[in-house]
Amino acid sequence: MAFIPYGRQSIDEEDIRAVNEVLRSDYLTQGPTVPAFETAVKEHCGATHAVAVHSATSALHIACLALGVAKDDVVWTTPITFVASANCALYCGAQIDFVDIDPATLNMNVPALKQKLESAVRTGAKLPKVVIPVHMCGQSCDMAGIHALAQQYGFRIIEDASHAIGGRYRNGPVGDCRYSDIAIFSFHPVKIITTGEGGMALTNDAELAEKMALLRSHGITREEAQMSGTSDGPWYYQQIVLGFNYRMTDLQAALGISQIRHMRDWVSRRNALAARYQEELEGHALVLPTTISDAYSAWHLYIVQLKDKSRRKEVFTGLREDGIGVNVHYMPVHLQPFYQKLGFRAGQFPAAETYYQGAISIPLYASLTNADQDRVVACLLQRCQ
Ligand SMILES: *Cc1c(COP(=O)(O)O)cnc(C)c1O
Repeated sequence: MAFIPYGRQSIDEEDIRAVNEVLRSDYLTQGPTVPAFETAVKEHCGATHAVAVHSATSALHIACLALGVAKDDVVWTTPITFVASANCALYCGAQIDFVDIDPATLNMNVPALKQKLESAVRTGAKLPKVVIPVHMCGQSCDMAGIHALAQQYGFRIIEDASHAIGGRYRNGPVGDCRYSDIAIFSFHPVKIITTGEGGMALTNDAELAEKMALLRSHGITREEAQMSGTSDGPWYYQQIVLGFNYRMTDLQAALGISQIRHMRDWVSRRNALAARYQEELEGHALVLPTTISDAYSAWHLYIVQLKDKSRRKEVFTGLREDGIGVNVHYMPVHLQPFYQKLGFRAGQFPAAETYYQGAISIPLYASLTNADQDRVVACLLQRCQ
């Protein structure tokens, strides 16, 4: 029987035609297609500015830089995320620290964030310059709660919404930045829509958008208003900050424009599949995902937790033998050897560590058929009996 992966892209003839068209055009990069994709995403997500880049990782990096993250600053994120959410602070020479998760939603625990802020004030420890909440599995964090604390304690917010494009929070799309300074998306093939590799930073702040656009392309500007002195002529450009080459290509953007047509339907299919899992898996030796009424999840991942954590490896290995592409998201970042070398220790974020021991991500993607899903359910229930 065919292997069922935990996630995969959907590509149709229209996607292929859109990429081919760019291949036959004058611009493979720095042409008109990247701005068109930026417009499509910001229109779907309700933000006023969008900066496309070649990955969410580079988007996180330039978002931190645009907010002024530098040496001697501290950034806080969650331990249950992909390493990139933490690495971005280190790229800027800043320090990283973590706030434990809410064991129900797997998102940053807002009361724990509040406690950590209060304790920093009490002990004279440094307050975070930026907090990076991650919308785990596609379900928004308690952004209103985090935003209220940002007002009180003076930090900025980058939403790592890599899992969450197409999701909603309190009657607005994820990415509208109502409760944050910048929101980040990933277009890696396992995410909701793909450009092969790709990412985007959204913001409602023109100045932040301008900074990120500069940082994406070597720190070079052709706009006279940004230059010092006067232009030497029409060929002239100036490098005004130290930037990178983080540009998205027009090939990638063409795929993105074609993909975003399906976003609403795909997210709705993911919701239907998640509801089926919820129904079929209830009442067994599993802890199922918790949904909150404030959010409409994009359902990037469907994660079950074994009630008997000691059986995780056996169940996981068994499912792989059954041809089910299970995975684990994520090993807590602070337990990675690199982060251990920075001084983090097991026991520091107990909710994240406990969650990790029982977690298994099971297949979820828009083109997963009901029949394949039934096979996943049957294998899982048999393996975890
Ligand atoms: C996938 C992912 C990233 C990194 O995305 P890339 O586009 O691969 O760089 C960052 N954060 C989270 C939470 C992710 O899932």
